[in-house]
Order: sequence, then C-alpha cells, then structure tokens
Amino acid sequence: MSHIVVLGSTNMDLVAHVARAPERGETVTGHGFRTHPGGKGANQAVAAARAGGTVAMIGAVGEDAFGTRLRQELADAGVDTELLRLVPGPSGTAHIVVDDAGGNAIVVVPGANGSLTGLAPGDEHLIAAADTLLLQLEIPLGTVLAGAEAARRHGVRTVLTPAPAQTLPPGLLAATDLLVPNEHEAAALTGSRDPAEAARVLLDRVPEVVVTLGARGCLYAARGADQLLVPAPEVDPVDTTAAGDTFVGALAVALGEGRAMPDALAWAGTAAALSVQRAGAAPSMPHRSEIDASAG
Ligand code: ATP
Repeated sequence: MSHIVVLGSTNMDLVAHVARAPERGETVTGHGFRTHPGGKGANQAVAAARAGGTVAMIGAVGEDAFGTRLRQELADAGVDTELLRLVPGPSGTAHIVVDDAGGNAIVVVPGANGSLTGLAPGDEHLIAAADTLLLQLEIPLGTVLAGAEAARRHGVRTVLTPAPAQTLPPGLLAATDLLVPNEHEAAALTGSRDPAEAARVLLDRVPEVVVTLGARGCLYAARGADQLLVPAPEVDPVDTTAAGDTFVGALAVALGEGRAMPDALAWAGTAAALSVQRAGAAPSMPHRSEIDASAG
C-alpha cells in the first residue's frame, strides 16, 4: 500500500458556458453553469486515492458552503481530511468562462489556500509517516518549500508538479526527488521548447524528471541513464482537464508500491488516458480496478 500525503490547493471551479465571452463592461447571458471541486492538490489527492493509495491532504478550505463541499468530496473519495484546515473567509475559487468555440478565460482567487503560510503542528508528523509527498504551486511557495524540506528530513520521496509555471523559491528543486512538468512548464523552467533538452537541463537540479507530453505520453530522464519515451494509449479525448493530476496521483501510487519506473509510468499513463475519455476533473478519475483492467 502506498502512503501519500498531498500538500496543496483545494478550489471550487465555477464554470459558466457562454456563446462568446463578454467584453469589458458588457454582460452576456450564459447557457450553462456547473460547479465542481478542483485545485491541483485536491485533484492529485483524489486521483491517488482512486488509484488505490492511502492518502491524506494538508490544505485549507474556507468557512463557506464551498469549503464544506470540498471537504466532503475529498472524504467521499477516501482522502483523510483531518489536517485540512478550516479558515475564516472564502474557499479558493476558479471562475471559468468557456465559450462555444472551446476557448476559456479563468480567474483564480486563492481564498483559503492563501492562508496556508507554513506547516502546522502535526503536518510534519503526517509527512514523516508517508512514503511520498505530492506538491504543486497553488499555495504560498514558502509552504511548498517547508513541506519539501520536511519530507527530505524524513527520507520521504517528494514529487513536485511545477504548476502554475512561475519562478521557484531557491532550495525547492534541491529538496525535490521527482519533478513532473508538462511541456510548457518544462519550457518555462529551462527556456527550451525541446522536452528532451529541457529534461537534460533539469537533471542538473533534480535527480529525476518526467515531462508529460499530452497525447504523446511522457519522457522520463534520470541522471546517468538514457531518456525513456513512454507513449500514451491511443484514445479519443473528451476532456483533458486534470489529466496531469490523474497521471501524478497514479504514478505516486505505483512508485509507492515499489514498481519500477517504466512500469509505473505506463500504469499512470493508462490512468490518465482513462480520465481524458470522460468529462470533468475528479469525476473523470479512474478507480484502480479500471486502471488494472485497462492496463491488461
Ligand atoms: P492538465 O493541465 O490537463 O491536467 P497537463 O498539461 O498537466 O494536463 P498533459 O501533458 O497534457 O498534462 O497530460 C498528462 C498525461 O495525461 C500525459 O502524459 C498522458 O499520459 C495523458 N494524456 C493527456 N492527454 C492525453 C490524450 N489525448 N490521450 C492519451 N493520454 C493523454
């Protein structure tokens, strides 16, 4: 069994569907609205739990109806929410306008996520008992760094998704074991649009890198070894939202169970390919039985 702790964000996604997005000062009438739980931290936690891991989430929700629902959705997925703080003010929200041409515009208001300034008593204890800590960049970066350093102190594997792309705090990559950027994030970190070149550059700073390549799969690089391209299963995508989070959650589970990296990457790719064939973030994430059946 993999023991995974996620230190990261929870957001309620508020999605309005419109024929075309409004101009400044304009009001348009939408033709659909949905809310669904998101945030890269919560997404990775749900993905890992569905993939069969024992998962706990360190994060924060606000004292509003969204916070109640965000906590409940995590609990329903089997994620331990004991160290998910309840803080005054609103939960994190993502305000998403999707137009009929498939374009979108998004405002993220961090809300409660912004209150995660440092680790609380109990957080380090939880991290120390895990085999993997999953990190992203949607909470204050000092806290991401504090989590990575706590994991390092206890010999816990750290897996960092460097999203959304931004300048990293000094020391974060030094405390990262496995970095999992997508192509854009890899380019933002290195200045190279060539994933193979970007991975080579990143190996100066972390021991292992997986660059995810969407429908093309992923590229794995480790110091002193040949790069490995792991193709994705060929599928008809319906909605690729949270494909990357599904991939990372499943990868953490497979690695925690002691699978070799090539095998773990293929299994995570199977999980992500299942998720892109269904709509939504958390609702699209596959359960272990489906991943195993699909992986053959
Ligand atoms: P997102 O932001 O949508 O969560 P991402 O940009 O972080 O995704 P991607 O590189 O697009 O990450 O996808 C992550 C993984 O999901 C890929 O490595 C691949 O395994 C799988 N995947 C994504 N798109 C497809 C697809 N069209 N077909 C099959 N697998 C896919």
